[in-house]
Amino acid sequence: MSLFHPITVKCPKCEADVTVKAVGSVNADRRPDFREAILEDRFQDTTCGACEHSFRLQPEFNYLDAGNGQWIAAMPAPDMPRYLEIEDVVSDLFAQSYGPKAPKAARDVGDKLSVRLTFGWPAVREKLLCAAHDLDDVVLEMMKLDLLRKLPSVPIGPGIELRLVAVVDDTLALCWMQSAREEVLEQFTCPRGWYDTISSNPDAWAAVHAQLSDGAFVDIQKLYMGAGRAAAE
Ligand SMILES: [Zn+2]
Repeated sequence: MSLFHPITVKCPKCEADVTVKAVGSVNADRRPDFREAILEDRFQDTTCGACEHSFRLQPEFNYLDAGNGQWIAAMPAPDMPRYLEIEDVVSDLFAQSYGPKAPKAARDVGDKLSVRLTFGWPAVREKLLCAAHDLDDVVLEMMKLDLLRKLPSVPIGPGIELRLVAVVDDTLALCWMQSAREEVLEQFTCPRGWYDTISSNPDAWAAVHAQLSDGAFVDIQKLYMGAGRAAAE
């Protein structure tokens, strides 16, 4: 079941109060139209009744797509620096919903799910794109690391991230974007072969793979943000 609850937010343009049906949980098996809306960058779009300005709530929901083997805790972009503590909360929530603390029927569903934590719309959308195009998201993150060495221009900075935005035939389209505003700074393409090269060479990438997949937050940004999980424990 997909669950919504009414919340009141301030219109970012005129500051009027706007009541929005915020989603807390998305079941994409039952509501594939929600999955499509995320992929089309319009899920949780809203319009201010006073000034008709359109804006989008930051994501803050759990996403289940058993058909594609995905369970994602999609959180607001500005929360990323707290990823370690949020990872712990999310891991516990999954354990209760589909993991060791859940009833048998739910555990059977959970066995086939990958657990992910994302921050901001571009990140959750990227995970859905990976599933749609049979890309391993850990390998995609490793490809991004490889790209950082190859690209002539790397506009890296706080809140700015590299995201896969489209897959067309054998070409991957990526963007540098300001995550919270979903603002595209630069776009480029690379051949899918670059992904395949990394995918077919797991030994060379084993150490990075282990770091990226040590929690639900599978994202290269954790490699240069804070001391990481090993240091926190
Ligand atoms: Zn307004």
